[in-house]
Amino acid sequence: MALIVQKYGGTSMGSPERIKNVARRVARFRAEGHQVVVVVSAMSGETNRLIALAKEIQATPDPRELDVVISTGEQVTIGLLCMALKDAGLQAKSYTGPQVRILTDDAFNKARILSIDEANIRADLDAGQVVVVAGFQGVDEAGNITTLGRGGSDTTGVALAAALKADECQIYTDVDGVYTTDPRIVPEARKLDTVTFEEMLEMASLGSKVLQIRSVEFAGKYKVKLRVLSSFQDEGEGTLITVEEGKNMEQPIISGIAFNRDEAKLTVLGVPDRPGIAYQLLGPIADANIDVDMIIQNVGRDGTTDFSFTVNRPEFEKAKAVLESVRQHIGAREIVGDNKICKVSAVGVGMRSHPGVASQMFRALAEEGINIQMISTSEIKISVVLDEKYLELAVRVLHRSFGLDK
Ligand code: ASP
Ligand code: MG
Repeated sequence: MALIVQKYGGTSMGSPERIKNVARRVARFRAEGHQVVVVVSAMSGETNRLIALAKEIQATPDPRELDVVISTGEQVTIGLLCMALKDAGLQAKSYTGPQVRILTDDAFNKARILSIDEANIRADLDAGQVVVVAGFQGVDEAGNITTLGRGGSDTTGVALAAALKADECQIYTDVDGVYTTDPRIVPEARKLDTVTFEEMLEMASLGSKVLQIRSVEFAGKYKVKLRVLSSFQDEGEGTLITVEEGKNMEQPIISGIAFNRDEAKLTVLGVPDRPGIAYQLLGPIADANIDVDMIIQNVGRDGTTDFSFTVNRPEFEKAKAVLESVRQHIGAREIVGDNKICKVSAVGVGMRSHPGVASQMFRALAEEGINIQMISTSEIKISVVLDEKYLELAVRVLHRSFGLDK
């Protein structure tokens, strides 16, 4: 007998038929003798609908009240799933985040989990209940409802698995695992049987939407055995996210090609080349809560230098406005921007022991005449910034060049 936490996303909960289908799957695990805790998302589209509704009332919704509104989607699905489970002959009990007492900080709309009181859940499990918990929500010290950021149900699932010391956390979604790249761009993309936490973390932050980044961090930190599976297939092992790197000699150098269209680049030209300039430029950007990704500063010439960095595309105009006021203050010449760029990355722990991965990547892009605008590397990834029009081509070329379609 194992204790399994299963998380079902919005698509898996998208209709009464699908909810009954989830109940049938849970029933199978119960029949095998396992204890099951289920974490659910709202029905697909529901959170978006609630956010839009809030914005019709208040252009920038009050953060506390927004959480009151958007946490309701999951309250509906926990109740519906419990009804389906009871109909399937199981004992089941639903809990909202506050009812469990998933304690978070008070950062509305993007709260972090501080602790989970798992005593009641454990007692219910021992009494033979299936416990169904609302994802994406918690409660702060003062009793306010909080939410964990978009996609936050993944984090609820992993956090519960950690608190309960579950044998496995299964994330059921509309794909059957983690792929070498997006199959919509490269039909030859393959499902990975395993991927390491580090790789998954890079892929998640580089644009793969399979798991919320924070849930992967959480799982890595608490060593939760995490598996991504399809809720529409009965067969298949999905993708296991592992702590260990594969020991076999066949370990590929590159595990996947990730990409992100949601990028924009800003360049400040003619910046006086003196100590403190990077801080003067990026301090106000950080103060405005804008995330900066890649940064490049050229060598100085004639006492000035050029300084470029990337931001998320929706924050492009805001970042430009902040920079404009800094530009005047520090006496830089001009600001130019480009919001039609993308980032393409090769990710793999195998890179650590294989030199020459970067040059292979650059050669493959050069052979297709793709110009690289920026480069950044870490121990296990190489990212390039390209003109957005090259995205599909670059992903296809790199996928083939690193032998991922075989
Ligand atoms: N329902 C929330 C969202 O759409 C949380 C989740 O689905 O994970 O972001
Ligand atoms: Mg999700």
